Amino acid sequence: MELDGPTLMDATAELLDVGPRLVGTPAEVEATDVVVRLFQDAGMQDVRREAFVWDAWQPGTAAVEVAGARYPAEPLSPTPPLAGVTGLLALETDADVTDRIVIATSAGTSRGAQALLLRAAGAAGMVRVSERHDDEDGGPLVEVGHTFVGVRWPSLAVDADVGAELRAHVGEPATVTAASEVLEGHTSWNVVGDIPGTGPGLVIVTAHLDSWHLSESAADNALGVGAMVVMARKLAEGAWPTATVRFVATGGEEQGLQGALAYVQAHPVEAGSAQLLLNLDVMWSPEGTFVVMSDEDRWTDLALDTARAEGIQGVDGGSPNPSSDNFPFQIAGSPAFWAGRFGWREYHTRSDLLERLEPEEAAASLRVQWAVLASEAYGPR
Ligand SMILES: [Zn+2]
Repeated sequence: MELDGPTLMDATAELLDVGPRLVGTPAEVEATDVVVRLFQDAGMQDVRREAFVWDAWQPGTAAVEVAGARYPAEPLSPTPPLAGVTGLLALETDADVTDRIVIATSAGTSRGAQALLLRAAGAAGMVRVSERHDDEDGGPLVEVGHTFVGVRWPSLAVDADVGAELRAHVGEPATVTAASEVLEGHTSWNVVGDIPGTGPGLVIVTAHLDSWHLSESAADNALGVGAMVVMARKLAEGAWPTATVRFVATGGEEQGLQGALAYVQAHPVEAGSAQLLLNLDVMWSPEGTFVVMSDEDRWTDLALDTARAEGIQGVDGGSPNPSSDNFPFQIAGSPAFWAGRFGWREYHTRSDLLERLEPEEAAASLRVQWAVLASEAYGPR
């Protein structure tokens, strides 16, 4: 079992065949079926689906209307259906944004922080401009995602071309509409499987199987699911680990860590007593910095040393940040590790494609993740 580029790409491609894996679509069900099969084929035992019920969200179409023109937009989760919210267009740098539809930029802070700040400042809504063009075709990109606002406040994303049009109309009345939809009582699934240990101890590995709707979402996060499959095969084919290694492919991550939250709620003792929570999310991407985030210094040192030996200069990012599946487990009490190459400006766009992944570099990240996993799975508790 080699932790090499072709092996990792093969495992990743299986989930990509499903296409975008948006919650609430048939592809979500298909993706869980594929992961069940991949987990079983990898040699995991007791592979199961764990259902959870929540209010999922569907984007639908959206638009910004100003000066008689209608521009296409993408709603950001959890924007509600908008029959038409009207306000004067403003810039986020304006002193007073009360009741304004504010044009924000992706070049600034995160979409979640922007939405929170603008809502607190009394804005009627946000139109966030994705300041990015595709590396290959040069076309403008729209970045979608969740705002973490926690309320259904109007937030839309537009591409840079639309953004330029809108900025020419600051001070004029604009109307935002969205055909987004809330799927009340929607059922999603986590897929769980084990490589049983010969002794006590538990390591939990998480990677989300869902994605946004604009692309097959290779780096975010079919790659993480592929890495889980490869690591499970290596454990199953090699020496039996001391600790049980539990693999949890989560659903609903993109809309606020729903699967991880559900898992922790269903298994509070176990989720809070893992010796390592290893989260795989954007473990590699075509651009950015390899950031090692860890709750234990020994994992930080091991990961940075392993990365250096692979020719990757990583940086110590401190404790894993709360934007991915690690966070509910950390709150429950388990120390976490999350490393990936972050800063890619094409994530959550139509450009997150398998062909953009760098197989050998992604495999180097996989070997870093494996070193940390193995240090606990085979090590004394
Ligand atoms: Zn992700």
